[in-house]
Amino acid sequence: MPSATTALPTAAPVERPRPRSRPPSPPRSTARPTEAPTERQSPEQLHLLPAKVLNTLTVEAPAGAQACGWCIEHPGQHCPSCANRRRKALRLSEEQGLSIEEIAANMKVTVERAEILLEQAIDERETKALRQSHIPNAPIRKLFERAQLDDPDLTVAELARRGGFSCSTHLARLLGYKPTSTTVKNGKTYGGQILESIEVNHAAKIVQALGIAPTEVEGL
Ligand SMILES: [Zn+2]
Repeated sequence: MPSATTALPTAAPVERPRPRSRPPSPPRSTARPTEAPTERQSPEQLHLLPAKVLNTLTVEAPAGAQACGWCIEHPGQHCPSCANRRRKALRLSEEQGLSIEEIAANMKVTVERAEILLEQAIDERETKALRQSHIPNAPIRKLFERAQLDDPDLTVAELARRGGFSCSTHLARLLGYKPTSTTVKNGKTYGGQILESIEVNHAAKIVQALGIAPTEVEGL
């Protein structure tokens, strides 16, 4: 685990546009989704990152629309006060069902600041969950390809059958052989990318279907 004070690869300036308030950008043919992360990945894309990169991401997102003097003076460092604020915003939203305006009033901050705190809290939780639930898929792919050398009948479809996967295309995506399907949500296109990490429960099913005990595989 990196320390909480690990800065993002690209140190964050205090002021910058927030990803979710940007208008949807047109598709860029030059986009390379698998390269090093930008300073802030949307949670929907975090699972595309290699686990190694995922582990270097700090969950201490820059505060944006700063209301915290400590954060302004210590960019990129863990601020316990803001961590508490994020947790509180999340609690007020999810446990008490307050609207963003009510959260802002309760916490005596602007609505914009409350929105940011809530977004960061959700991102932070998803990043943590992904760290625990995903491993890189390259080693799993290698195990499959090695098994294929001994067993020429072992296609992806056959592996899907042995592992109890309902669809061989889905398995090919999990293993990073095929890009994910694309979906359009709120005018933004998601998917169409090669996965680099895989959920541990899927990885365990795959290696078991290959006759390998999950305990023999790193991360499982
Ligand atoms: Zn702070």
